[in-house]
Amino acid sequence: MAPKLRLTTVNAGTFTMPKEGLMYGASGTVTVPSTVVVVEHSTHGLVLFDTGVNHHVADPEAAETYWGPGLRAKYGAEGFTRDDAVDAQLRRLGHRPADVTHVLYSHLHLDHAGGMSYFPHAVHVVQHDELRHAWWPDRWTARGYTVNDYLHCRGYDYLELRGDVDLFLDGTVRLVRTAGHTPGHQAMILDLANQGRVGFMGDAAHLKEALDQDVPQLSDWNVEQKLLTYQHVRALARAGVRVFLSHDPADYAALPHDGDTWD
Ligand SMILES: [Zn+2]
Repeated sequence: MAPKLRLTTVNAGTFTMPKEGLMYGASGTVTVPSTVVVVEHSTHGLVLFDTGVNHHVADPEAAETYWGPGLRAKYGAEGFTRDDAVDAQLRRLGHRPADVTHVLYSHLHLDHAGGMSYFPHAVHVVQHDELRHAWWPDRWTARGYTVNDYLHCRGYDYLELRGDVDLFLDGTVRLVRTAGHTPGHQAMILDLANQGRVGFMGDAAHLKEALDQDVPQLSDWNVEQKLLTYQHVRALARAGVRVFLSHDPADYAALPHDGDTWD
């Protein structure tokens, strides 16, 4: 019998920041979500794509140590509460964190890897070079990572990829390298029985507007690779994959939440 997938999404980290932080040269302020995808796979159990922000950030004092001085305010994450962290959101959806079998990461920045420590018994699926880079980032992108997200996670079970993979060899969950924002960024493409193919692009691009206009982000690791990845994202869309960016507010609004699901 063909495996069945059902997904929903939660926002595990709202940021209000100068738009220039997400799109080089832009003006004004934007409020954006951090999308976490929760996938129930009939054969392989509960799968997450990204994990949002860590719960320590909900406490202004703890955040000063966890992220570093002033960063909670700088990123406009003051509205983040304990209930927004992905472990609390899973419980709200009726799951236990221990039910999660696989955690897939677009990349390991602090708004994507913040929940890693909630899943000590899952398989953590990340590109090999992203894992290496997270521990010792190039200095021009170092501020996107917080070592506290994975400081106590070195003993976890990692599946380190070197490129694209059909994760369960059943065609349902594909990971595709989309480097540029970080060295080992990857996107997830799902094949759903009723909704068809949907692609979760993480931060392959930050805002749809930036993707459409070929504008990178100021703190991208490698602008050339990021803009080549934009071409890849557009090719996926042309091929009929509905693509969603982690931080684009309209993309998030179009996804199922609060008990709604896609299958
Ligand atoms: Zn991000």
